[in-house]
Amino acid sequence: MLATPKPLTDPLSLHHDAIVVDLHNDIMLDVQSGKRDITRRTPVGHSDLPRFREGGVDVQVFALFVHPSEADRGRQRVSALLDAFERLAVANRSALAPVTSTAEIRELQGTGRLAVVLAVENASALEGDPDHVDILFRRGVRMMGLTWNNSNGLADGALESTHGGLTSVGLAVLRRMQDVGMVVDVSHLSEKSFWDVFAATRGPIVATHSNAAGLTPHRRNLTDDQLRALAERGGMVGVNFVPAFLGGASLAQVLEHVTYLVSVMGADGVALGSDFDGFTGRVNGLEDVSQLPALTAALLDRGFEAETIRKILGGNALRVFGEVWGR
Ligand SMILES: [Zn+2]
Repeated sequence: MLATPKPLTDPLSLHHDAIVVDLHNDIMLDVQSGKRDITRRTPVGHSDLPRFREGGVDVQVFALFVHPSEADRGRQRVSALLDAFERLAVANRSALAPVTSTAEIRELQGTGRLAVVLAVENASALEGDPDHVDILFRRGVRMMGLTWNNSNGLADGALESTHGGLTSVGLAVLRRMQDVGMVVDVSHLSEKSFWDVFAATRGPIVATHSNAAGLTPHRRNLTDDQLRALAERGGMVGVNFVPAFLGGASLAQVLEHVTYLVSVMGADGVALGSDFDGFTGRVNGLEDVSQLPALTAALLDRGFEAETIRKILGGNALRVFGEVWGR
């Protein structure tokens, strides 16, 4: 008897067949500090290499985070995180590989290896030198946000205003990023900084891990105007699983934000930006990255078309990466 092919609307088949891209994960902090061995499956935190695989993640953005308290030694800090990533990648060649192009991502698809995109969170990593963008680019960094929540020499962050938006150094950094082909992440910016960055850039820019302020008012979330502006540029927002930005701690709230974001931005503007291992606590129904197929099932239940779900899971992210990276 011939086997019947599974229909595309089977959630697990759809999830594992789709390219799944998550735009923000903070696991490198634990890797660099030696706090845990992420090559083993444990219940600690939200992710590790086995759980990325169970969750069907094909591409994971690893955030290289510079805390404001480390801003005066930001280069050293990011260098230490990059060193730790390189050691991890060399020791686990069969499990993951760094990527800097969508061609490399497609090559890795189906091999069971996790494609890792490196991103700097808080450009205090440059210690004020726009030329340092090139150094980070050479080491594989393909995305960067100018600030974390604080204000730095480049721009104001979401929770602190001292400059009134973007500074001249921040502008020079943006220019360098766009010249080399580095994705501009606006998730942690203040609203004024967001609009300054929007005006100073061309092409798609991205809010990798933020939600809709129209649904959950929070300074880390984006207004409808900001969301529409991102969409008009061909950019996107990655849905964040932090309970404070969701307005609750359940899969239902994630679904509400996805639905809202799609209604404001269209299906081409929405992606995933879990923030896993960047917060404490759990989202019911989406406790860790291994539970990600539950989101696909919930989206199907909600009536989203399979093609729309593929875009949200990773299609949109790949499109934007390809556009900014040029390959
Ligand atoms: Zn963040």
